[in-house]
Amino acid sequence: MAIHSLNNTKFNDVLCLVDSPEFCKLKVYAPEGKYGLKSSVLVHPENYDLATKEPFFKIQVAQRKKSPDLGCILPLPCITSIPWTASDLPQWFLEHFELLDADTKKKFVTTFAQTRKNIFWVIFNIDTSSGKSWFGLKFQYKKSKVNKTFPLKLESFTEWNIEACSIKLFDKSSLIPRGGAFCDLQDKHVLLVGCGSVGGYIADQLASCGLGNLTLVDSDTLSIENIYRHYLPIEYLHQYKTIGLQFRITTKYPWVNVIPADGCLLELRNDSIINRYDLIIIAIGSPTKERIFHDYCIKNEVETAIINTWTEGYGVGGHAVLDIPEQKGCLRCAYVDNENLCRGLVSNLNFLKPNQDLTRNLSGCGNAFLPYSNLSAIQTASITTDLALKFLQGKVKDSSKVSWKGSDLDALNENLELTDRYSSFSKSLLVTPLLNPECDICNE
Ligand SMILES: [Zn+2]
Repeated sequence: MAIHSLNNTKFNDVLCLVDSPEFCKLKVYAPEGKYGLKSSVLVHPENYDLATKEPFFKIQVAQRKKSPDLGCILPLPCITSIPWTASDLPQWFLEHFELLDADTKKKFVTTFAQTRKNIFWVIFNIDTSSGKSWFGLKFQYKKSKVNKTFPLKLESFTEWNIEACSIKLFDKSSLIPRGGAFCDLQDKHVLLVGCGSVGGYIADQLASCGLGNLTLVDSDTLSIENIYRHYLPIEYLHQYKTIGLQFRITTKYPWVNVIPADGCLLELRNDSIINRYDLIIIAIGSPTKERIFHDYCIKNEVETAIINTWTEGYGVGGHAVLDIPEQKGCLRCAYVDNENLCRGLVSNLNFLKPNQDLTRNLSGCGNAFLPYSNLSAIQTASITTDLALKFLQGKVKDSSKVSWKGSDLDALNENLELTDRYSSFSKSLLVTPLLNPECDICNE
């Protein structure tokens, strides 16, 4: 829009929340900071149910200390001239005001223009070949603290300063796809069990893809040992990871609802709870508990699909297994022992051979731990989130598995042995069928 050419605003974005292009009165909040959303003008219709429709916006508005200015929306039927300088604006405004339909003009005059104010905002929209275009004018009376009715005659404009500004709509149906995320995930609900190094990134990645609802289960707090391998920064030390993630993610992404919950995987053995979700992701790295939970789900004919994910040590790789009930292929398929074809205790997807001591001790650190880097955690989170998205969007309909394969350098330096699967594996990041023909559950 050509009016942008005289955009001379001192503020950054004017972020406008609207649900209709028609005339309505607006509340306009001036910026109160240099960076972040504090540096934006925030605009929303006067009678807008922010609490239920836009809780993120409500929090931003609630932080403003100054009371809002008055604004309104004017839908223009057409544009007949373009203002080249600020001094053209009064003439331009009056010309276009005459073009408004009678009803809009009447509402403008009776409900907006007669209020005495020091500042008025008028936000215009017009149909263009590429959709609606929005721009705004801020009218400020030259004497501060003096309130006047809106100028509707050319001579009255001499007492007003007019600034043009561009408008950005705070609109999820455009901002979510603009960021490469998906609106069709807004009504999905994922239960994520385990908010450690892998789970923390999964939570953020799911939200970044447009997921609407995420319940987080973990009873751990962030400890000093976590700080180089967790999504949360050090200011969340001693905070529950679930609560830290809730705060971090809901202040980062405007349209995600995050629910923190205390507890552990085995406490979730309750099919009426489990069946509420579209997908469950288990990122606890505890094969024994995961198999016990799987037994429960089989016995109780749980209907929700489940992804189990884990990272191996020394950067060799990570895995995610999607088990869709009613489909061939289950978690146990990933635990068939390749040698005796019985149920094993170690996943047949693993790249490090079992029965080796994979943990490491550091002096002064106390506990033994599995060494893998933050990068490994992020890689594993990424294959898991990708698999989750493909399932939620109906792009993957069968029980599946996916692995990423890293370098064996660090493992070999520690004299660790790798599995045959590691040496023959060439399908990093690719989603492949989970079914193992020897699985006793899938072949019942
Ligand atoms: Zn199976």
